[in-house]
Amino acid sequence: MSEFRKNPFTGDWTLYAENRRNRPYEFRHTTRTTAESGKNCPFCGGNEGQTTTPVYQDAADDVWQIRVFPNMFPAVSQNAEELPQETFYERRAGIGRHEVLVDTREHGMTIDRFSKEHLSKVLVVLQERYESILSEKVTTYVQIFKNCGSAAGMSIRHSHSQLIGMPLIPQRIQAMSEKMQERDCLFCKILRHETETGSRVVQENKDFIAFVPYAARFPYELWIAPKKHQSSIAELTAQERNNLSVLLLELLHKVILLRKDVGYNICIYNAPKGKPFHWYMEILPRIGGFAGFEYATNCYINMVLPEEAAEYYRKETERKQEKILKEGL
Ligand SMILES: [Zn+2]
Ligand SMILES: [Zn+2]
Repeated sequence: MSEFRKNPFTGDWTLYAENRRNRPYEFRHTTRTTAESGKNCPFCGGNEGQTTTPVYQDAADDVWQIRVFPNMFPAVSQNAEELPQETFYERRAGIGRHEVLVDTREHGMTIDRFSKEHLSKVLVVLQERYESILSEKVTTYVQIFKNCGSAAGMSIRHSHSQLIGMPLIPQRIQAMSEKMQERDCLFCKILRHETETGSRVVQENKDFIAFVPYAARFPYELWIAPKKHQSSIAELTAQERNNLSVLLLELLHKVILLRKDVGYNICIYNAPKGKPFHWYMEILPRIGGFAGFEYATNCYINMVLPEEAAEYYRKETERKQEKILKEGL
């Protein structure tokens, strides 16, 4: 049974999830060879019996490519009961849904090597699971995230995303939502401003724009947003999914060139239930890391100016790709 507790000063929530202690941590407990071969990997095709019952599977056991099931070690649980309120502090029971979306049956496959058709299918399933989890009575916010590489917190080395439906709205999302009213959306204004100035824009197409945000917390952080005001991925059309997949793959091909085996997180932010929002996606390369100052102040020290990072993505990585093609490396 997990529990959210609110910091009375900042309004930030901490989730206490004791059962997460029991989860397998492949990188720590197994040798590199076992981790890479996928032997006994619960997410591999052929090992379906090692997971909970799927809530979605795109085809039969021997051919599926996308499979969604409740997390074996959930951070929040559907069966949890609301806790009696404390008189002084604020807390909530960890009620909600924690699902794992395995997006390939192949061990060792990585999202940057997906085809755009496959990535579009993954987006359809994400749309469907997001809507399903948000429709739960108690759920007010669904966080979608993907950890790529051990540096990014990936505990099982088999490509997957996770969705966590929560009974509260995290402080950061709440603050953004308050500035994202459809008729007066700060994000729409930011996107117009970024397009006009151009120095932080990395790439764009008809429906989406990718840019390094003005106050990026992390080196080479990237944001991808729909150009038109859309509150969640649930609103994406087939054409938009295709354009998003093309853009995301092109960006990931640049991110993986930042350094060998770079870890990164992909986070998708959607509207909390009944609240305004302009949905978007963050790609957060795990370069550098943070220490005492960041923990103390919530002010991040970033060695790379956003304009330089955008320039790097635009120019330097194209040069690297040309070099790789030429030298056949
Ligand atoms: Zn596997
Ligand atoms: Zn907007």
